[in-house]
Amino acid sequence: METENILSLLQNNKEELFLKAKEKKGQFYNNIVTFSRNVFVPVTRQCRNRCGYCGFVSDDASSWITPDKYQILLKKSKDAKCKEILLTLGEKPEEKYQTAKDFLLSHNFESTVDYVNSFCETALDNFLLPHSNLGILSFEELKLLKETNASMGLMLETSSSRLMEAGGAHHYSPGKDPSVRLETLSNAGKLKIPFTSGILIGIGESWAERIESLQTIEKIYKKYNNIQEVIVQNFNPQPNTPMSDWLSPTDEEILLTLSIARIVLSPTVNIQIPPNLNKDRIVEALDSGANDVGGISPLTIDYINPNMDWHEEKMLYKQLGDYNYELIERLPVYPPYEKYLNTRLREIIEDYHHNEETLYSKNR
Ligand code: SF4
Repeated sequence: METENILSLLQNNKEELFLKAKEKKGQFYNNIVTFSRNVFVPVTRQCRNRCGYCGFVSDDASSWITPDKYQILLKKSKDAKCKEILLTLGEKPEEKYQTAKDFLLSHNFESTVDYVNSFCETALDNFLLPHSNLGILSFEELKLLKETNASMGLMLETSSSRLMEAGGAHHYSPGKDPSVRLETLSNAGKLKIPFTSGILIGIGESWAERIESLQTIEKIYKKYNNIQEVIVQNFNPQPNTPMSDWLSPTDEEILLTLSIARIVLSPTVNIQIPPNLNKDRIVEALDSGANDVGGISPLTIDYINPNMDWHEEKMLYKQLGDYNYELIERLPVYPPYEKYLNTRLREIIEDYHHNEETLYSKNR
């Protein structure tokens, strides 16, 4: 559907948008809702960018997770039956901080990418599946990480360069320039890395820009067929940030965006809603187009939105079950994309499918 048509429905007939999304979802999805049981590892909070909404970033070099601490987390992950190790961190910290360079050198690494790759190797040695988010990466860096990651992620957030202007959420964030993010997404596509992208809504973008961002992700999917899921993430104001007094998007705005995502994206693209940011509207979000609730951790908090607790799994099973949705655990790579992975990763995945028959696998 063209942008003008969506904008016109937004103005004149929102109900029609909801209906179209519901119809499309109904044709391709049953009542299954997937999630991944994970552990969130905030490798470092040092970051070369300064996004107006970010409460995660810190200058503090002590924010690095050391290999010793990481080993302890891996052990706990196995005990808690987590399968995904979510490695999330600031972008290219060594470009900005001498303390980051010093930390890496003291552990015999020259770059953050190499450091994260060693964490991924250790996770695989423990039969755990890494999903890394390092911000923008070169083709060579992606190629290296493809060998040790079940999937990777980079939110497009927005395709609007307007937010890079003075006063915009991304003014101090060179890594949020849509053109460099699109380059990383395209390179991940060329390398056939099972990939997560998404949009962040409520950071100053217009409806037209929001729609264009979704269309841009859809174009990449059509070209490379590697975008396994798209997150529709709602802005959640954090204290002590330049945007702390901004309003969160309304319920209606979030649900409409989900419906538009379902209409714009190919039916095979999974649409994810962060459950902890949508606790009071999770069923409505699923009715509006989402079919996945992303990572849920029994062990670690959401370091990006620390004021938003995860659901307890049992509660979520019950809450969704009451509305005839069936919650099923999945791995960080969706079944159709497993074929892109190397033998080492596929063997771990096969082992999980073999030993845990309740896992989401060949249901589709
Ligand atoms: S949102 Fe990400 S890129 Fe932006 S400042 Fe925070 S850690 Fe850095």
